[in-house]
Amino acid sequence: MFVVPILLNSMLVIFLMALSWTHRKKRLAQAFLAVLACLLVWSLAHLLEVFSNTLSNTLFWENVRISGSFLLSFFWLAFVGIYTGHETLVKKYSRYLILYPLILIALMWSDSSHHLFRHLPGMVRPVYGFAVLNNSYTSFFYLAFSPFTAVMYLASLGLLAESFRKSRGKVRSQLVLLTAAMIVPLLAELMFLLGTTPVPQISFTSQSLMLASILLGRAVFQFDLFQSVLLARDVVLETLQDGVIVIDRYNQLLDINPAAMMMLGLAANQTSGLLAGEALKAIPNHAELLAEQEICCSETHIGQLFLEVNVVPVRDSSQAITARIFTLHDITERVLLFEQIKQLASYDALTGVLNRSVLFEKADDIVSAARGGGAAFSLIMLDIDQFKRINDLFGHQTGDRALKAVVDLCTSQLRAGDLVGRYGGEEFVVVLPDTNLHEAQQISERLRQAIEQSPLDTYKGYYQITSSFGVACSDLFGEEASLEKMICAADQALYEAKGKGANQVVVVDQQRVTFEGLYERVAA
Ligand code: GH3
Ligand code: MG
Ligand code: MG
Repeated sequence: MFVVPILLNSMLVIFLMALSWTHRKKRLAQAFLAVLACLLVWSLAHLLEVFSNTLSNTLFWENVRISGSFLLSFFWLAFVGIYTGHETLVKKYSRYLILYPLILIALMWSDSSHHLFRHLPGMVRPVYGFAVLNNSYTSFFYLAFSPFTAVMYLASLGLLAESFRKSRGKVRSQLVLLTAAMIVPLLAELMFLLGTTPVPQISFTSQSLMLASILLGRAVFQFDLFQSVLLARDVVLETLQDGVIVIDRYNQLLDINPAAMMMLGLAANQTSGLLAGEALKAIPNHAELLAEQEICCSETHIGQLFLEVNVVPVRDSSQAITARIFTLHDITERVLLFEQIKQLASYDALTGVLNRSVLFEKADDIVSAARGGGAAFSLIMLDIDQFKRINDLFGHQTGDRALKAVVDLCTSQLRAGDLVGRYGGEEFVVVLPDTNLHEAQQISERLRQAIEQSPLDTYKGYYQITSSFGVACSDLFGEEASLEKMICAADQALYEAKGKGANQVVVVDQQRVTFEGLYERVAA
């Protein structure tokens, strides 16, 4: 009863050591081999101790047993530390940390010369036929050994618990097995210390090690611990800023990482057993993405959050889709930056109105509609009179201010759908959709008066600004209407307005076209 579990355990531990030996180059396997070695030393020494019949032999094996169990607490922490991703810390501190148990073990082996640890290491008494050392340990022994052991085990359990909190699925099972393997001998030892073992005064810790070894064997070999892929993958997924969602062939959610939960507004307790359609419902085009059977990439947004969603199918050997992986990459910064650049590239920095090329682009639909017989539109060319004088009189800064003031005044008088663009230095183009020549003339006149009546405040007092206007309407050009032709025509009219003394509106009307050959000139 006493011997069999210890022998079985020793065989099991040796078997586990042999299996782990192939991985001995990995630090995790080295720490694991050390844990196994301590377990082996502990249980074999216990066996030899109880079957020793001389005091010196008993004492010897007791020392071996304590050395094994004491070092075990250290190697447990090293092993758990590496397993939970703290290899650098383990590498850095283990060489210092091991000094303490080594010194104590040395002191214990030399106890006969100083009796620091044992009062009376001289009596062996039989308990149920076994030799039990009646060596009352000193308080110093407990003080020296217990806190260190406690700290090592608590730290190991803490690391396992922390990993458990962060992980899911298979990794959790592995962590539970490791925790149990560590706790079982501790509980057995505690029962012995409290005198609650099945056979009083006989420690069953060594026997409990067999259970611990079975648990360890499962944790390591069933879950492929040395590949460490599970935990590494889990850590990567957990800490990844990209959202990752795995769904099975039945569109059932298999896995989702915290980043994905946050992006989709899901709480951890809402995800188990969820259908993919439910999980992804915050994504506007999720139904479309879920129907996708091939690799695809789509840009979408959840409120203010812009996302690039990638869908990758996972296929089995017969090419059937077994799962699909969705990755959600936050592209908000990129989208906003692009918008900002587009804004900068589209608008004139000084006045805030469209630049010439964007004005042409934006007017495209209005022009096409007019050419196709739709609503006619009008175009105004506006040029500030004697603008050079403003610069000359008050400096360029005031000139800039004047430009901005004129533009603000105009835009405040126009409709939301009207397009205003800067055509040149102090020349602006206004495109008025669904506006005939007469209406455009009235609007221009209104703008002219508004500018005339809003003198610019300068350091030399108020200065009256005036502008000249050339106005053309698309119906004059019919199917031939184009922004270029209308700008050309309006520019001619503007030129005429300047010639007539400026501060006035001149329209390109049928009469003008007919009598002055303007249309012919423009068409040419
Ligand atoms: P006109 O009545 O014939 O239109 O005469 P003008 O002085 O308004 O026209 P001209 O083309 O002779 O001069 C335009 C001036 O506008 C020349 C240029 O230095 C100035 N200008 C162009 N862009 C800017 C600008 O962004 N800021 C300032 N302050 N001046 C500008
Ligand atoms: Mg000009
Ligand atoms: Mg001018």
